[in-house]
Amino acid sequence: MAVRLVILDLDRTLWDHHNATELRAPFTRIDEQTVADATGVHVTLQPGARALLDTLRERRILISIASWNQPAPASAILETLGLRDYFVHPKVEFHPYKERTVSDLVRELSEEGVRLRPEEILYVDDRALHLRRVRRAVGPVQVLQAGVDIRDLRDVIGYLDRDPASTHSPVTAEEG
Ligand SMILES: [Mg+2]
Repeated sequence: MAVRLVILDLDRTLWDHHNATELRAPFTRIDEQTVADATGVHVTLQPGARALLDTLRERRILISIASWNQPAPASAILETLGLRDYFVHPKVEFHPYKERTVSDLVRELSEEGVRLRPEEILYVDDRALHLRRVRRAVGPVQVLQAGVDIRDLRDVIGYLDRDPASTHSPVTAEEG
């Protein structure tokens, strides 16, 4: 089923840093892909991040965020990179329960008239635990584990364009 919403994790999925909550404002833009925090720590977008966001927007596929972080630093990084406008209902919440985050997101979109079947959602996260819990709570959303099912975000478009008859969907998150 065609994907209508892509939900991205942030740490080690949209960017390389493992925990944006550790970082300190203000952030300084280094280049198109990188910001530095107040202590000089760099955060760099994963390869393919901007191309993915642009391609999804061109295709009118909704993009959102499900991140376990303090909202302030994550939002500041997105703002500094000029990425805020790509996302609908981006959710950065300081708890590990992505199933709650994603359920709330889907409900909020539904309340605005955007009703999505689980199969129309693609959720990308580097942690299999989150992928499993979201599928258990929300239903059979499509999932990709960053670093396992895909090398980086360059591979997401290839996943969306695959021939479903010849390519089996990754099942990494099915076990357990
Ligand atoms: Mg992560």
